[in-house]
Amino acid sequence: MERGKKCSFCGRSDKEVGLLISGVSGYICDECAGEAFRVVQEHKKSTTTFDRKDLPKPHEIKAYLDQYVIGQEDAKVAMSVAVYNHYKRLQHETSRAENDVEIEKSNIIMVGSTGTGKTLMARTIAKMLVVPFTIVDATVLTEAGYVGEDVESLLSRLLQEANYDVRAAERGIVFIDEIDKIARKSDNPSITRDVSGEGVQQGLLKLLEGSKVNVPPYGGRKHPEQQFIEVDTRNILFICGGAFDGIESRIAQRLNTHVVGYGAVEHTAKIDKNNLMQYIAPMDLKSFGLIPEIIGRLPILTHLEPLDRDALRRILTEPKNSIIKQYVRLFELDGISLSFAPEVLDYVVDKAIEFRLGARGLRSIVEAIMMEKMYDSPSSGVKELCIDLDYAKQRIEKAGGQIMNSGA
Ligand code: ADP
Repeated sequence: MERGKKCSFCGRSDKEVGLLISGVSGYICDECAGEAFRVVQEHKKSTTTFDRKDLPKPHEIKAYLDQYVIGQEDAKVAMSVAVYNHYKRLQHETSRAENDVEIEKSNIIMVGSTGTGKTLMARTIAKMLVVPFTIVDATVLTEAGYVGEDVESLLSRLLQEANYDVRAAERGIVFIDEIDKIARKSDNPSITRDVSGEGVQQGLLKLLEGSKVNVPPYGGRKHPEQQFIEVDTRNILFICGGAFDGIESRIAQRLNTHVVGYGAVEHTAKIDKNNLMQYIAPMDLKSFGLIPEIIGRLPILTHLEPLDRDALRRILTEPKNSIIKQYVRLFELDGISLSFAPEVLDYVVDKAIEFRLGARGLRSIVEAIMMEKMYDSPSSGVKELCIDLDYAKQRIEKAGGQIMNSGA
């Protein structure tokens, strides 16, 4: 090779690289060629995904959710439709003629007690999505200038998920958990600065509405030396979730009834007072402290049901990766066939209810029952193991206090 030959991209000489490929008026080294290939692949991915005709339909999305999430029919349908419409909008956007109808996005808000499956739903849907997806917690957000993260950091996470491909991130989905924690504490706009309440909601509103936002690439605080990346949020779908503790009393008030049921007038007789969440309406979110503009930008309001005994029992065994299936597999890997007597499963559910741990507690209870067996069985040479009620009771009585603490 003649002297002085250099890669036209990185400037390194033929001595410094493995291979230099010559072109009409320059050279490219092996590393730059690899990098160029990667860029082309990324570009293809972000431009062609939505030409496909085989995007999952709402029924298919729901069927997928059914494999992992027990019950919560309304929320699953709302979520499936929202995700499907999101795909359709994106397809439409790329092929839309100048004067064609513009389809606006429909962000979602899911309301339901803690441990009813909001995050599970978001995580499950993330597994099947063909767009970047991220879960962020609203509690870390504060108004610009205060300790905590600026609202724009939500988009930094999405950018990271999209490998900093801005075009892909601009079509992604963001799940904002604990949205109720940024509710205004009282209905009166406060005289003192409201660090984590209305200011954050105003910030969030900008993102939900769809605007061009300068995003610090590495999240966290804005540093003056950091280069911002401009992200257009017009096509990003936002899904919000929150427990909205105590909102039932506001719903009850609105329905002109009392949670305890005294003096309920005749027209309220049909109201199911044990599950007031199903009657949730946008005005309840307002009285809880979300600003009307935010509520207006979350047009799909859906709720999750409290999990009853039957649902908890099903959660133990039915989901594709249910807790019981996981333990059976764990033992199977050691060549041990594990089974549970049906009364044990009922007992686990009873304990979860007694300890007020809900679905979150199921795992710690089964864990407490199984700990000793997990310790002994691999070296005992046992080939079959059935957990019966007496054994389960004995283990739980010993570990009861610890479980209560672990769930707190
Ligand atoms: P949330 O976000 O509503 O507070 P999570 O989705 O984090 O609750 O639920 C906590 C755990 O409880 C999940 O990881 C899952 O194991 C279990 N769980 C809760 N709800 C359901 C459900 N409807 N179906 C299956 N598992 C559930």
